[in-house]
Amino acid sequence: MYIDGQWVDASDGGTLDSLNPYTGEVWAQVPNATAADVAKAVEAARRAFDDGEWRHTTPQHRARLMRRLAELITKNAEELARIESTDNGKLYREMLAQWRYMPEWFYYYAGLAVSEQGRMLASDKPNFMAFTRKEPLGVVAAITPWNSPAFLMNWKLAPALAAGCTFVVKPSEHTPVSSLAFARLVEEAGFPKGVFNVLSGGPEVGKFLSESTRIDKIAFTGSDGVGKAIAQVAAKNLTRVGLELGGKSPQVVFDDCDVAVTAHGIISGIFAATGQSCMAGSRLIVQKGAKAQLIEKILERVKTIKLGDPMQPETEMGPAATKPQFDKVMSMLEAAKKQGARVVCGAKPAEIGGYFIEPTILDQVRPDMTIFQDEVFGPVLSVLEFETEEEAVRLANDTRYGLAAGVWTLNVQKAHRVAAQIRAGSVWINAYRTLAPYAPFGGYGQSGIGRENGPEGLAEYQETKTVWIETSGKSRDPFTIGL
Ligand code: NAD
Repeated sequence: MYIDGQWVDASDGGTLDSLNPYTGEVWAQVPNATAADVAKAVEAARRAFDDGEWRHTTPQHRARLMRRLAELITKNAEELARIESTDNGKLYREMLAQWRYMPEWFYYYAGLAVSEQGRMLASDKPNFMAFTRKEPLGVVAAITPWNSPAFLMNWKLAPALAAGCTFVVKPSEHTPVSSLAFARLVEEAGFPKGVFNVLSGGPEVGKFLSESTRIDKIAFTGSDGVGKAIAQVAAKNLTRVGLELGGKSPQVVFDDCDVAVTAHGIISGIFAATGQSCMAGSRLIVQKGAKAQLIEKILERVKTIKLGDPMQPETEMGPAATKPQFDKVMSMLEAAKKQGARVVCGAKPAEIGGYFIEPTILDQVRPDMTIFQDEVFGPVLSVLEFETEEEAVRLANDTRYGLAAGVWTLNVQKAHRVAAQIRAGSVWINAYRTLAPYAPFGGYGQSGIGRENGPEGLAEYQETKTVWIETSGKSRDPFTIGL
């Protein structure tokens, strides 16, 4: 692990196996952090923040280091993508695209770091000036999931560094390797020791971190169940929390869509990344007139989806990332069938074996079914039909989540009307899954608290201080307080 600028084993020598989901074999062993290791990492980050020079560095200096790190990511993108794809079973080409785009987060937040910070306030008091300062929040503990470990870590790290925070990350026990490999680049870029620390380990390590009274914020991406548990623990110390949780995102398709374009968008929304994406467009809410033609078009392409080795460039869908994930998808499919969903295609393990699941479409899904309400995190599309725009909006919003949505229509007025009414943090019109460092991302409802990316993402790692300055130099009446 990387703690306080040193490469260390777990204090008790314990290790953790990391499996390659494609082969099912152990391909890496990493340390399994103990409570003492967690304390050591937190103290290193604490020291680097409290005594160290980091929080007093100029934003220009932090920005320079961040740009250097961005360059190192670009240089090492292929190796890091190979590591990550081996660890989580997602396509090498998807992981490579993520690593190649990741530097943009560091460039963007390096830019924000050196732009305006705080503002002059319009004072109504003749002898007073007032302004705000943006100051770093402190020590950030990041806990990340297995589906895009480094991408989601860097959505947190880039704004945290720009703000002047220090950082401890614990990646998922299923995919610890890429975050550890990334630490080599942080080291090479020349960040002071203690500013960035990586711990590997399971839920226990996440618990130790979130229970710590020595951290100022927990930045979590993962399931809503774990997010709620973390928020409860954090509440005891009033530790700030940022939560990016799951979703059950609707794709609302109107009769007047472009069927071919829409079919591709729906496929990309649910079958890319084997559906293992928080923003997977898992509920197809389609208007009666377009339904048959759209499903036919989707099916045509689904039949040709190439399942296989995630490392091969022609592969389009990899396996589920873990055995428990594979089992969970299978049991949700069984439950959906029992509750009356009709299988259009898939709903079974793929012939190639391993943790592969056939791309699945379920029709005649109803809002009272588990498959409509709960996140599958697999390649499963649930289909519902609607007649009126009002009904479409109602169905789209009939969820405890609110992460993302797609709206498909060539009628620009309807597109905007519907996008405005859907309660979700991101809405794409005639597209799906577009992301950028400058575009805020996050959830309504139980999809999370807070936003990542954009200026909103930086604000999550800052405190705002108001500074009042008396300019007359005269004594004031001590009993007319404050006003
Ligand atoms: P998970 O919630 O099981 O685990 C996430 C992390 O939390 C892991 O590092 C795990 O070790 C840790 N953890 C588990 N229990 C803990 C506890 N009690 N205290 C502290 N830490 C604990 O999630 P996962 O299975 O790794 O990832 C899939 C989930 O992540 C899905 O629900 C998906 O929607 C969500 N996700 C959300 C986003 C987003 O940006 N909104 C992005 C990707 C994934």
